[in-house]
Amino acid sequence: MAATATFTCVCGVQKKVSNHWILAKCTTARLELMPWDHYLALEDDIIVLCGERCATALLSRCLGDWKQADSVSVANEPMLVGA
Ligand SMILES: [Zn+2]
Repeated sequence: MAATATFTCVCGVQKKVSNHWILAKCTTARLELMPWDHYLALEDDIIVLCGERCATALLSRCLGDWKQADSVSVANEPMLVGA
């Protein structure tokens, strides 16, 4: 593992040392927000966010996804994570 991983927010901003970034995880059932953790940030299902504004944008996106998923829930099958 590289010691100097680069993290890029959904908005395209790249993380610098001084930034106070946060982490999020959006699934079909919930949206979690977490304080920054370098190791957690390396995980595939974690979304890195540069701040409150992008967290709000992600919230809107998640709500949209849930709304959409709700309307097609008949054909909605749970996805298996991993492998
Ligand atoms: Zn951002």
